[in-house]
Amino acid sequence: MNPDEEYGVQEGDMMLQRDRNAASDVWPEVDGQVFVPYEINPELGKRASLITQAFKMISEKTCVKFRLHTDEADYLHFKEGPGCASLVGLTGGEQPLLISKSCTAGNICHEILHALGFYHEHSRKDRNEYITIQYDNISPGREDNFEVRYGKTLGMAYDRGSIMHYGEDYFSRNGKPTIVTKDGNVKIGQRTHLSDLDVERIRKLYHCKGNEEEGTAQVDYGDYEMGLEGLWGFKFSTMAL
Ligand SMILES: [Zn+2]
Repeated sequence: MNPDEEYGVQEGDMMLQRDRNAASDVWPEVDGQVFVPYEINPELGKRASLITQAFKMISEKTCVKFRLHTDEADYLHFKEGPGCASLVGLTGGEQPLLISKSCTAGNICHEILHALGFYHEHSRKDRNEYITIQYDNISPGREDNFEVRYGKTLGMAYDRGSIMHYGEDYFSRNGKPTIVTKDGNVKIGQRTHLSDLDVERIRKLYHCKGNEEEGTAQVDYGDYEMGLEGLWGFKFSTMAL
C-alpha cells in the first residue's frame, strides 16, 4: 500500500478549527480528577471495545477518567469517519472524534491525547535538535503535517518514544524516510502504549496528584463482555474507565 494512503488516513488526523488556540483548552478537573464525558455511536459496533481499551491505557496511569455522557455540555462523541481524527483540546459542546475501521486501540489513544490538548511530538518547537525532516521525501501537499506548532512542551524532554510521534516514513512519496532521528537507531512512531513521558505529560497538564500507577480504573468487564455478545444493551453505568 502506498504509505501516503495508509498514513494519510491514520496520521493526517488533526481536525482544525479556526479562531482559537486549541491546546489552551483542557478538560475540567475536579478534586484532582478529570472526567471526560463520552458517547460512543452505536454505528461503531464492536469497535467500542477498542475505545474502552484506549480509555484504559490513559486512565490506569493518570487521573484522567472517562465516563458515559449524561447532561454535560461538553463531551467526546466517538463516531464513524473516513479515518482516525480528532480536534485538539477541549473545543466545547459535542466534540467529534472520528473512528474508521482501520483504527487500532493505540490509534484511538493517540486521538484521545489530541482531544486532551496534545499536538504531535515531532511538531514541538525544539524538534530540530532531535530529528531532521526530509522535505524532499514528503508527498507534495502534505508538508503541513510536519510544521512546527507551539503546543505545550510542559518543560519536558523530547520523546521519540511518544505515542504522539510520527513514524519515519509517514507521508513519504517515495518510501524513503520523512523523519530521521539525530542519534541513530531510535525507533519512532509506536502506537501500542503510552511512553513514560506520555504518562508524565498527561499527569502534568491535568495536575494529577497521588499515584495513579496503582490503578484506580474501575471497569466492570462482566457487563461489558456480556453486552458485546448482544447488541447495544450493555451497561456503562458501572464504568469509570
Ligand atoms: Zn495525530
